Amino acid sequence: MRRQRKAKIVATLGPASSSRESILALFEAGADVFRFNFSHGTQQDHLARYEIVRDLERSHGRPIAVLADLQGPKLRVGQFAEGRVQLRAGERFTLDRDPAPGNATRVCLPHPELFAVTAPGQSLLLDDGKLRLEVLECDEHAIHTRVISGGMLSDRKGVNVPDAVLPIPALTAKDRADLAFALDMGADWVALSFVQRPEDVLEAREIVGSRALLMSKLEKPAALKRLDDIVEVSDSIMVARGDLGVELPPECVPGLQKRIVRSCRRRGKPVVIATQMLESMTVAPVPTRAEASDVASAIYDGADAVMLSAESANGAYPTQAVAMMSRIIEQAERDPSFFEPAELSQGEPQRNSGDAICHALREVTRIIGAVATVTYTSSGHTSLRAARERPLAPILSITPNVSTARRLAVVWGVHSTVGPDISDVDAMVEAARRTALAEEYGRPGESIAIAAGMPFGQAGTTNLLRLASL
Ligand code: PGA
Ligand code: MN
Repeated sequence: MRRQRKAKIVATLGPASSSRESILALFEAGADVFRFNFSHGTQQDHLARYEIVRDLERSHGRPIAVLADLQGPKLRVGQFAEGRVQLRAGERFTLDRDPAPGNATRVCLPHPELFAVTAPGQSLLLDDGKLRLEVLECDEHAIHTRVISGGMLSDRKGVNVPDAVLPIPALTAKDRADLAFALDMGADWVALSFVQRPEDVLEAREIVGSRALLMSKLEKPAALKRLDDIVEVSDSIMVARGDLGVELPPECVPGLQKRIVRSCRRRGKPVVIATQMLESMTVAPVPTRAEASDVASAIYDGADAVMLSAESANGAYPTQAVAMMSRIIEQAERDPSFFEPAELSQGEPQRNSGDAICHALREVTRIIGAVATVTYTSSGHTSLRAARERPLAPILSITPNVSTARRLAVVWGVHSTVGPDISDVDAMVEAARRTALAEEYGRPGESIAIAAGMPFGQAGTTNLLRLASL
């Protein structure tokens, strides 16, 4: 089963997509990666969906990536005696450490670390930025504020503090428990929420080791100050526009999205654009024209994947949203000018044999009009670096490693397959020809170009470029 597009689709599973039929429908409509959002649902809910995904993978013979998205240090206010209060602009409001139920003048903020880092003049944003408070004074017990934008504030609503680097660990106790669970379950990718520093990624890497790859979600202004360093230590990046657009004014998000994509493209790190891409499809069977344009723009900019959140997790039209996203991507990729902007953000190959081979591979497939760019990989490195070059001929990735095959499902242009473990070049050519013919890349006699590393089975040794005909 091969898709006719290069960019990938990440679909979040949730109440609207928990049955076998609904997950199958999302997969057949075009979902390449399923996101398990640990901010919602129980571990058992996730496990039940995971088993369905792996079952579909078996029956369809196409590797699927499972992305476990950890909630991260999401800050919340405590509870109110009446469940909620109305805050009005100009009034005073205090956040303190007293666990007693809140009222119209105060509420508990159960995050002691925050009191030391807030300072007069900073903003506190409540409930996805719907309410804004300005800090007037603060000490270790209380943060006194003035309400700038008022509204209804109810129990356990989120708090964002965009102006501060928070001295909080990237992984909460819940995250650690969810992470252990997700790794045992067999997640291929782990997404880290509210990453602020490269050290946050390294801390998670200590725990995860080589069991999964790490996707850093960029949604804090502090992370943007160290963008390149975070991209460098991460395996991939998510442009998490939801929280990013709360922590920063929404008008800043488009430019930042482009900056993040460029940083990832230069380094060859897969980048996913997330949140509200087809938001109106949570309630309507067709998107707005602006949403269609947003998805297409992400594709033109060179993103590896685009993501659906509420649209597929709890919207009324989950399958239609995936199908629509797929059509928008295909249409953008058919545009003859499609490859130009992507090329611009590509950056130079690194000065090593792997990048030299992958760069040459792109040229070779173009010059001889090859029908496939075949990569033979054990760690996934060759396929990843070949994808970075954005070759015209579709990439057929072959690996003996099922977990490598699954991880690559998120990468632009890579059709990921599991193949035999080979030990010499003839066997490699044979495996490439057989798979390319079986997957209908071309007819007998047409050319393919193959990149691999020898000795086979050793990671990061890309040093071989071979031409063959089907
Ligand atoms: P979330 O992350 O859905 O887990 O909050 C994505 C975002 O913030 O955009
Ligand atoms: Mn978020």
